[in-house]
Amino acid sequence: MAELEGLEFGKSDFVLLDEVTMEQFMENLKLRFEKGRIYTYIGEVVVSVNPYRQMDIYGKDNIEAYRGRELYENPPHLYAVSDAAYKAMKRRAKDTCIVISGESGAGKTEASKYIMQYIAAITNPSQRAEVESVKNVLLKSNCVLEAFGNAKTNRNDNSSRFGKYMDINFNFNGDPTGGHINNYLLEKSRVVQQQGGERNFHSFYQPICHGEANLFCFAFLFYLFAFQTSNNDRSSHKAVLSALEVIGFSKEEINSVYQILATILLLGNMQFESDGESVNIVGQEVVNHISELTATEPDSVNKSLLYRTVDACFGRDAFAKVCLQHTVRCFPYHIFTVALYERLFGWIVSRINSIIEVKDYDPVLHGKNTVIGVLDIYGFEIFDNNSFEQFCINYCNEKLQQLFIELILRQEQDEYQREGITWQHIEYFNNQIIVDLVEQAHKGIISILDEACLTVGKVTDTVCLDSMDTKLAQHPHYTSRKLSPTDKSMDFQKHFRIRHYAGDVTYSVEGFLDKNKDLLFQDFKRLMYNSANPVLKEMWPDGHLSITEVTKRPLTAATLFKNSIVALVDKLACKEPYYVRCIKPNEMKSPVLFDDARCQHQVAYLGLLENVRVRRAGFAYRQLYARFLQRYKMTCEYTWPNHLMASDREAVEAIVIQHGFQDDVAYGQTKLFVRTPRSLFTLEQERNNL
Ligand code: ATP
Ligand code: MG
Repeated sequence: MAELEGLEFGKSDFVLLDEVTMEQFMENLKLRFEKGRIYTYIGEVVVSVNPYRQMDIYGKDNIEAYRGRELYENPPHLYAVSDAAYKAMKRRAKDTCIVISGESGAGKTEASKYIMQYIAAITNPSQRAEVESVKNVLLKSNCVLEAFGNAKTNRNDNSSRFGKYMDINFNFNGDPTGGHINNYLLEKSRVVQQQGGERNFHSFYQPICHGEANLFCFAFLFYLFAFQTSNNDRSSHKAVLSALEVIGFSKEEINSVYQILATILLLGNMQFESDGESVNIVGQEVVNHISELTATEPDSVNKSLLYRTVDACFGRDAFAKVCLQHTVRCFPYHIFTVALYERLFGWIVSRINSIIEVKDYDPVLHGKNTVIGVLDIYGFEIFDNNSFEQFCINYCNEKLQQLFIELILRQEQDEYQREGITWQHIEYFNNQIIVDLVEQAHKGIISILDEACLTVGKVTDTVCLDSMDTKLAQHPHYTSRKLSPTDKSMDFQKHFRIRHYAGDVTYSVEGFLDKNKDLLFQDFKRLMYNSANPVLKEMWPDGHLSITEVTKRPLTAATLFKNSIVALVDKLACKEPYYVRCIKPNEMKSPVLFDDARCQHQVAYLGLLENVRVRRAGFAYRQLYARFLQRYKMTCEYTWPNHLMASDREAVEAIVIQHGFQDDVAYGQTKLFVRTPRSLFTLEQERNNL
């Protein structure tokens, strides 16, 4: 309840709408956007609309205004929920998490940065050097991860191409002591392929701009189709280098990082020739250069790129020449380059983790170690062509939605129970059925995919689709052309459709199996593992295995992803959650355009209306008796200036009765619960009229 704002800015909390309809919701959202009020609450959930312009609401004064205050004391803001999460952590020793969701370009990453900056600003008042250094490293890690994990896409100039969950640890003083980062599903295919108008990861352009000629002059930059560097890249490169140093990467490590980037570009620039039988690399210089950059033998580079070791009836460790024929440039070189980048990214994250992890923390000596987690992860994706990546991302969103339902409802229920209040159940769509469709053992899509991947022989994407069609024919959220022959929007051979909670998505099964297998030949791993460069070696620990030792059935990409998301959900579920729901107002990055249809769609699939309904189902507003009194005691003769009753609760009853809304409230153990917002309005108005 942000009383500081007048009604001309709309309602600062959607639970205050006269009626919970899409129309009223949208009207309020639009009005607030147009008035420059980008944040609105649903209870404790922040709904944020990307302003696409610099807002003067993040300064020192603003931070001070929110510091230590309650949600309803100030206009809605990220700072208010950050403070609520921080207070829960500090006062009640609760682990909390802030889950930020929304589609690409909706403002998740910016929000996560403001949240971290706020927490950094309000902690360590005594400016202790070691805490300052921890804060600095945590903030700088953003800059490095953005360079290596973000890219310009058609939807967002600085789009995060990975999911990120960051834990910040606090000591009993409430000061940060360290942290941990989990990264999810980097969109690695971007290294070799981007859509028109998009770019590769920022990291590739930055050193080029900076003129790291010694490393990059050989590279013809094959992958950077859209060779567009900007002034930003230049300044970012300096910032990234300095961030790497501040975080604690050694000179050798930093050099290795850029050597690997150069190697990737060189690999991309490789030419092959085929005489019909066998394939060779054109020009030895490029091989020599790669071997120099990776501290490996040129001969081994040659071999691992052209041959692969097969184990099987052909004889152990026999070299069988890969038959490339006309598929030159497609396979398997791109797989190597993509894997190099993926490992590099993973290594950077784990290196940062090893530096920021809390060491030698003794809870007896230092008190409970508490955590605030911040999740900035890709939102629901529906493109013209949806592939394996969208399938994984949308599954992740189903899981998070499931958690949202669980937590929001559970929280409400818990509170009513604690306060001894009966409440009325509200119907909402439970998406567990879709989660099961994807992840259920033996029956779910991931299981069917895995089965196809592990089957020996020629199992194609289409065969896999057939298998899904057979096994999932009865599922109400699954369909395909075969199951629904009249639907001309799908191809018999190619497509299946999932009815997600956020809408229908048609996936093209093409490439699913290869992406799920995520094949990488052991020879290449071994080449990297045998590098004389210890940093590179460290990125390929599995390269020491011989071909016979390699696990016969490695986990597939989808299963690994599923496991990581299940672990994430477990982590979030045991924390007190705070939510930021981001909305993208238009596709033009315009600060003035509010595209009604686009916004309404997002409100619908984020389930915001249900959220308001659930929040209002029982009681729209609840407040501790003492606080309620503090705010409204001047509106009643029996309580002003001080009441003489036996308890605060009785005093609150007196106020309620005086204003005639005794039928609209319930009295809990410690709090007053008000069913409809109108009663509160009356009070607020009374208060303002005095
Ligand atoms: P993706 O899923 O692609 O990573 P995202 O939700 O993380 O998208 P952001 O990168 O946070 O989106 O935001 C996109 C752009 O919108 C930013 O680069 C910035 O220009 C603008 N923007 C977002 N939030 C704000 C804000 N609070 N104030 C000003 N500009 C903003
Ligand atoms: Mg982002």
